[in-house]
Amino acid sequence: MKLSDIRCETLCYFFFVSQSYTVFYTELHSLIISNMNQVSREFQVFIKPAGPECNLHCRYCYYLDKADRFPGEIHFRMSDDLLEKYIIQLMEATTGGPVFFAWHGGEPLLAGLGFFRKAVKLQRKHLPSGQTLMNGIQTNGTLLNEDWCAFLAEERFMVGISIDGPEEQHNSFRKDGAGKGTFEKVIKGYELLVKHGIIPEILCVVHAENVGFPLEIYRFFKSLGAKFMTFLPLVVRLPGSPEGVTPDSVPPEAFGRFLMTVFDEWVEQDIGNVKIQIFEEALRTAFNQDHTLCIFKKECGGVPVVEHNGDFYSCDHFVDQVHLLGNIRNNSLTWYLDHPVQKAFGTAKWSTLPDYCLNCEVLAMCNGECPKNRFVRTPSDETGLNYLCAGYKMFFNHTRPFVEAVRQMHL
Ligand code: SF4
Ligand code: SF4
Repeated sequence: MKLSDIRCETLCYFFFVSQSYTVFYTELHSLIISNMNQVSREFQVFIKPAGPECNLHCRYCYYLDKADRFPGEIHFRMSDDLLEKYIIQLMEATTGGPVFFAWHGGEPLLAGLGFFRKAVKLQRKHLPSGQTLMNGIQTNGTLLNEDWCAFLAEERFMVGISIDGPEEQHNSFRKDGAGKGTFEKVIKGYELLVKHGIIPEILCVVHAENVGFPLEIYRFFKSLGAKFMTFLPLVVRLPGSPEGVTPDSVPPEAFGRFLMTVFDEWVEQDIGNVKIQIFEEALRTAFNQDHTLCIFKKECGGVPVVEHNGDFYSCDHFVDQVHLLGNIRNNSLTWYLDHPVQKAFGTAKWSTLPDYCLNCEVLAMCNGECPKNRFVRTPSDETGLNYLCAGYKMFFNHTRPFVEAVRQMHL
């Protein structure tokens, strides 16, 4: 399950270090996925206890400027009464499997340890008998200390941490407010987590500066003992240019080559030992299983956002006025999840696919990827093609012989 999809981003893989914990959480992950496939309401809400506030100023961040949506606010914090309301509503909305709390930001640790101690206490107070719960948190890692790590380990939080590679690659965009690279602090946070028995999932943004270093990055993560990795392509549109992107954005073919290079080493050396989300998504097609990562699903709508003030948005990448459905103080989470507008947001992903995608040989693997990236034209001049198409075509075609071999083995 996933933060980034679980977030987009993310169902993720956050597991503890010891073998027994790893087995336990792997089984739990399978249970969640199988339950998610059975339930009538399948979702993963990103809850933002500190809103868009962050202690870092990464150049590519897509969420910092969401502060503009809350004029007059300087510190964004979820109140205690809203926290309790959210916990109750999430439990009511969950129709199968564990209740999953996906804490996101900005930087969620800014809400403070006291806030999270309160949250887990309220979770226990309201959890229906027979129901289970899980917590996942996505952090930039720089605020982690002994107290945080002890708490996260004790409460069995799954942790996602953002690292963009070795020092040079990581520091190219991930900087603090003074413009200083954050690599040392993040690695310290990562090591503290490991010391407390947590192996975090690494979320690596692939951008123009690090896309040329696939093996350096992959081997660096392996040297940290990482078992769970997600590679997220950076695509930032250039204002005023219908098909243009910023120079920081990853070029599609380069992204495809990055994935292919890592895939080849993973198949050769690490399969069964390291989980890489996009590879697992490709492999799901060998078993005709639905995707778990929203960007490759046929429908959107399963990863909405609840902001620190209770505002409900359709998706983490569409936190804007058009996709603001209301506030959970006024209507329940269930009401928003089942709302026709949210459903329409979800089904539009498939219904707006260009014919070029519908006739694509890797459609089942890609499904046109995320609508936020669909802003270029097909060779026959249809609108709505994904900017990353060329890269995905390269990568998914590259994996097809392997996926087919896996399919044959399981026939
Ligand atoms: S728009 Fe759809 S695919 Fe993109 S992040 Fe949101 S839910 Fe996922
Ligand atoms: S690879 Fe390109 S053509 Fe194929 S489904 Fe994905 S975006 Fe569409």
